[in-house]
Amino acid sequence: MGPADEYIDQYLKENIIESETIQRMRHVIREFSSRTPKVIVTKCIDGRVHGSKLKGYPVTTIRFGRTDGNIVSTSQNNFWFWNRIDKAVNDARCNTPNMPALFIAYMHRSDIPGLGCAAHGGDEVAAAKAVKDQVAAVRKVFSRDQLYVIEGITNTDSMAETLIFEDGTVLDTLQIGNDFGFTDPSQIFHSVFLKYPIKDPAISKNIGFRTPEQLFTGKTFDFYDEFQTSLSMKSFLIREISGIVSAGEFETQKLIQPDLLNTLYQKLLSVKDLPKTLLPSLLYQIIWNIAYSIYQKRKLSLMNPDDRWKLLDHAEEIICYGDGFELLQRNKAVLVKTGRGDDTDALLVAKKVLSKNRQHEAKPYPIIIHLNVENSCELRSWADFNENISSRMNTMLRNLDTVFEKEEVVILTTFSYLDQKRFYPIKTKEDDPRISYPVNIVADINGDDKFSTIGLKTMEAFYAAQRITSAYEAKYFG
Ligand SMILES: [Zn+2]
Repeated sequence: MGPADEYIDQYLKENIIESETIQRMRHVIREFSSRTPKVIVTKCIDGRVHGSKLKGYPVTTIRFGRTDGNIVSTSQNNFWFWNRIDKAVNDARCNTPNMPALFIAYMHRSDIPGLGCAAHGGDEVAAAKAVKDQVAAVRKVFSRDQLYVIEGITNTDSMAETLIFEDGTVLDTLQIGNDFGFTDPSQIFHSVFLKYPIKDPAISKNIGFRTPEQLFTGKTFDFYDEFQTSLSMKSFLIREISGIVSAGEFETQKLIQPDLLNTLYQKLLSVKDLPKTLLPSLLYQIIWNIAYSIYQKRKLSLMNPDDRWKLLDHAEEIICYGDGFELLQRNKAVLVKTGRGDDTDALLVAKKVLSKNRQHEAKPYPIIIHLNVENSCELRSWADFNENISSRMNTMLRNLDTVFEKEEVVILTTFSYLDQKRFYPIKTKEDDPRISYPVNIVADINGDDKFSTIGLKTMEAFYAAQRITSAYEAKYFG
């Protein structure tokens, strides 16, 4: 196995472990999302703005659109862009009645010169304009009770967010944290909450019967960095905050620092035309982000200069194209999704970013591009497989042909399921030498007369089982 395949092998093993964890905790994720709106977020392909951790939303609970600089064609003909929104709106209409879906379009910026949005050449006015144009177009199509639309800014230094509402109200979590003089994430909580074990037995068990205070100790805090603990706390907090808001128990609550909770609640109440059903989740998201960005700043201050720079600057290792990459950690990949109206533009920016990274740090393999197609349900026939996976893959591969025509690249082609996030390697073009990873789980069933659901399930299970033991061995025994 060459260096590229070795890299891919390790990458796929990490994915298997992570997808096992979300599978194990799926009931907690489900409970969390029963209390929050259907959220769709659009943002830049920059690896530093990857993921939903900074909002306190578990993986799989937010849909993402990603294009270079968050520039999109808002023409009605841009099927991918509008359809992604329609999925969230229809999901809300059918599954969270009375609660609109939530749409946030983000630009990103940095306080450090040169570390802004590469797609806009660091021009913050241009980055803001792309987001404003998009938000205006979406507001024209959907009413507030179907889809509530907010403009956002991510600060990639601290991962603090600024939300800009339709009436001009601005909520800047960095500013709020500073105004309150917070220096530690635990300070956003009520002192009583921090001191005593959580009464809910299931949550208490999931966090190892520790007091919340104990989750904010050590070099890294388990409150954020231990998956099961973090997820359980997210689920607990959204439930408790929803309870406080619906019962109006602001005077007696012993969960959040009282002044902070009151200030944020009053501010959100004053936003004109903000649907009341969105108040608990927005309150939760903002409180989470205030604490999260304080934690990020703390982490940075403890790092040596090299590691700090690696976190703040671009350090993406691969290009990911398609959907289903939510389990990857921040800054691992430049992520290109369909939906800009012209994918090749986004891929060109991705290529530029990655080539620059590789100049800083040479790699023993060519640029690796991971193309994943995600499906929302079981594939029951070869026609399903062709319609939803292989034909899409081939259409997307053509964009790679155009952009990487003159480059030597290695391509990994996989598919995944929406709720599982596990990458299954397949080859839809056996004769393409760029697709060199030696696993193809559909090799023996790729045809009308050979395919069966049980056959595919067996191959999927076989693939995972084969690797899971060695993946755990590698993780826990080096
Ligand atoms: Zn950007």
